[in-house]
Amino acid sequence: MRIHNFSAGPSTLPLAVLERARDELVEYHGAGMSLVEMSHRGPRYDAVHHEAMRLVRELLEVPEEFAVLFLQGGATLQFAMVPMNLLHAGERGAYADTGTWAGKALADAAHHGAVYRAWDGAPYGYRRTPHSEELELTAATRYLHITSNETIGGIRYPQWPDVTVPLVADMSSDYLTRPVPWERFDLVYGGVQKNLGPAGAALVIVRRSTLEHTNRDLAAYLRYDVHAAKDSLYNTPPVFTIWIVAEVLRWVRDRGGVPAMEAAARRKAELVYGTIDASGGFYRSPVDPESRSLTNVVFRLADEDLEARFLEEAAAQGLSGLKGHRSVGGCRASLYNALEEESVRVLTEFMRDFQARNG
Ligand SMILES: *Cc1c(COP(=O)(O)O)cnc(C)c1O
Repeated sequence: MRIHNFSAGPSTLPLAVLERARDELVEYHGAGMSLVEMSHRGPRYDAVHHEAMRLVRELLEVPEEFAVLFLQGGATLQFAMVPMNLLHAGERGAYADTGTWAGKALADAAHHGAVYRAWDGAPYGYRRTPHSEELELTAATRYLHITSNETIGGIRYPQWPDVTVPLVADMSSDYLTRPVPWERFDLVYGGVQKNLGPAGAALVIVRRSTLEHTNRDLAAYLRYDVHAAKDSLYNTPPVFTIWIVAEVLRWVRDRGGVPAMEAAARRKAELVYGTIDASGGFYRSPVDPESRSLTNVVFRLADEDLEARFLEEAAAQGLSGLKGHRSVGGCRASLYNALEEESVRVLTEFMRDFQARNG
């Protein structure tokens, strides 16, 4: 029996996708073997690989001026690859420090280029994202790096920053949940294990004119231009991950694409925030209302001693993955694309019931 899975990542996948993968795992489409046992240079895998890339383009309306890449090393390797490839002598990378993930991106980038904090969320307790006019950009800034959704802190940018330099965004936890205005971006990346599939790859979308000027003095795997020239088949790609991502992308398309995912994310988030706001302080959201994440709802119980019981009882009722990240504590409900609205309704009913019994 499957339970309600609010895990922050790896996270719940569409049941139809899992069942199909199960049915096709042992023998793929009459090939006499599994897709994960055959050459990644053969026609069957090639078709899956290119379908995944084509669906990314279709669903996110990625223009031809951008290359779509599947790379290994997760979002974390992108923290280093972005400055390695994009920053040349005399150029600087600006980072909006909105929390855990932005902080890690900045710390790793500092090993590979001249970077600086264009905004510091620490004085605000990382409760919100910056407004455009608060971002302090200095001369020779090559890009502004943002974390579109802070998975641990539970905040997002309600509007994309309006700045004069190109944006680079970590979209790990809201990829395919919001449209991307490509004219503002040079590069978007994210690990796929939150909204797109199982762990094992990062999806990187990079402007082709940027690729013409990336650093060449890097090991081959670390060069975006090398991967782009080979359509992410420079070396053996993570074939299982990309196969399932292709299936998830098809599922997203059949459900109405990114606009439908965004609308569902708003409905699901509203159900949980609405329950918090109507609780008279029994539950509280620690983040500023305008920066509330649609995909990771962080909340506390006014009586923090009750949190352990809340999580225990929730788990006993089949509501899993609600414990906040170990660095911040509390509770967190991750509401990614594959989480059905029905699961959110079960959660909010439980929240009201728990309050009635303990309030
Ligand atoms: C999960 C996450 C990461 C780390 O991703 P890995 O694929 O594990 O490297 C980075 N940034 C954000 C916003 C995340 O949610």
